[in-house]
Amino acid sequence: MSTLPTEAAATRTWTNWAGNQQARMRRVAAPSSPQEVAETVRDAAARGMTVKPVGSGHSFTPVAVTDGVQIRMGNLARLRGADPASGLVTVEAGMGLWRLNELLAEQGRALTNMGDIQAQTVSGAIGTGTHGTGRDSASIAAQVAGLELVLADGSLVSCSADEHPDLFEAARISLGTIGVITAVTFRTEPGFLLEAREEPMRLNEVLDRFEELRTENEHFEFWWFPHTAMTTVKRNNRTEGPARPLSRRREWFEDEFLSNTFFAGVCRVGRAAPRAIPVINKVAAKALSARTFVDRSDKVFTSPRTFKFVEMEYALPVDAAVSALREIERLIARQNLRVNVPIEVRCAPADDLWLSTAHGRETVYLAFHVFQGMDQTAYFETAEQIMIAHEGRPHWGKLHTRDHDDLAAIYPRFNDFLEVREKTDPDRIFANAYTRRVFGA
Ligand SMILES: Cc1cc2nc3c(=O)[nH]c(=O)nc-3n(C[C@H](O)[C@H](O)[C@H](O)COP(=O)(O)OP(=O)(O)OC[C@H]3O[C@@H](n4cnc5c(N)ncnc54)[C@H](O)[C@@H]3O)c2cc1C
Repeated sequence: MSTLPTEAAATRTWTNWAGNQQARMRRVAAPSSPQEVAETVRDAAARGMTVKPVGSGHSFTPVAVTDGVQIRMGNLARLRGADPASGLVTVEAGMGLWRLNELLAEQGRALTNMGDIQAQTVSGAIGTGTHGTGRDSASIAAQVAGLELVLADGSLVSCSADEHPDLFEAARISLGTIGVITAVTFRTEPGFLLEAREEPMRLNEVLDRFEELRTENEHFEFWWFPHTAMTTVKRNNRTEGPARPLSRRREWFEDEFLSNTFFAGVCRVGRAAPRAIPVINKVAAKALSARTFVDRSDKVFTSPRTFKFVEMEYALPVDAAVSALREIERLIARQNLRVNVPIEVRCAPADDLWLSTAHGRETVYLAFHVFQGMDQTAYFETAEQIMIAHEGRPHWGKLHTRDHDDLAAIYPRFNDFLEVREKTDPDRIFANAYTRRVFGA
């Protein structure tokens, strides 16, 4: 019998953050060293079981689900080292992004760009290509300089652009199918301040000025309230300072109470009375006010997100974004859909990561959310058809219906990725139903 750290049978069930994915595992392991990860993988292989590392469960797809061995990464969350000269910082793979941000701030360093929240683990975030919005700066995985991982045969390898480059390319965004990442080395930069400017703006104006807003700001995004003509536009740009953070009271009121507690209440009313949603959205959009503040980059990029929803997000070629959003607007009206969470629109530069949704093309992301407990089927089906017609690539961690054939056609380096996977995991130890669907085996 193995002596590896495992958890009691009662904990062998798992649910993701949104509550829309469940797993019943045969075994749970919580290793605290790369050697224990390797032992867990070898042990599972010997028993003919599959293995899935899991982060904080913030994916909406079943990407982290397993009925085999679940590897929880929480005991592998330490700082390995930070080199002030190069800015390279290495942390264990289970570290939360929030903890990484704290550690970097202590050292006067920062990531260049981040997504909307910081609750994910570093390896989970890079595993599905988590991104924020940026004119010049790409996803979190694009900021990775090196990885250490345990492969299916139990070997521990390091990889980077210079060392096992193909393995590195494949493992950077891999949905956990290339190996269990045990440490991540990030390229960081000196800490910086962002000036955040948020204001209501009419949708027509945002779309008319889309090119200007997108190219004249380092981090531009907007949220459109369906059934209304209004958006909230967010522009974050670097500044020398001084810092002018929101007061603790205002931050709590606007970011925690209004954006989460109050908004969840509004959504609950809409869920109980869907016909009222257009009116509710108009009231919610009118309640928006402008604000400007200057704060540490990670505090501007991320905010708490406590109300529960499910999400689908597609990456479109930049030139398709405005017409796609116009089509969504028309279809919501024509099909009488009731949508109570705003649609989020973000940007990314082209990058070269094999499975990045922004691979090889300047990208605009359109994200569709449905409040927990409401049926998303008609809305997501309608929106997805439009996304597909515009050559959209689905976020790996957010709901979609695409499979291997669809995805192989829109990712130029898809087969390169599959070749590395075939070499490193021919027996598909790291597979689950979702990865079989999207990778075809
Ligand atoms: C409220 C909310 C806000 C979000 N905001 C954004 C956003 O702004 N931008 C964005 O792009 N996405 C966003 N997402 C999606 C989220 O960032 C991704 O789904 C991310 O992958 C979740 O990270 P996690 O740590 O929870 O990983 P999990 O969901 O637990 O796992 C994701 C994948 O990573 C793999 N993995 C985990 N650990 C390892 C490891 N050690 N080695 C190898 N593979 C591993 C898993 O096997 C799985 O395939 C958001 C999700 C939620 C719920």
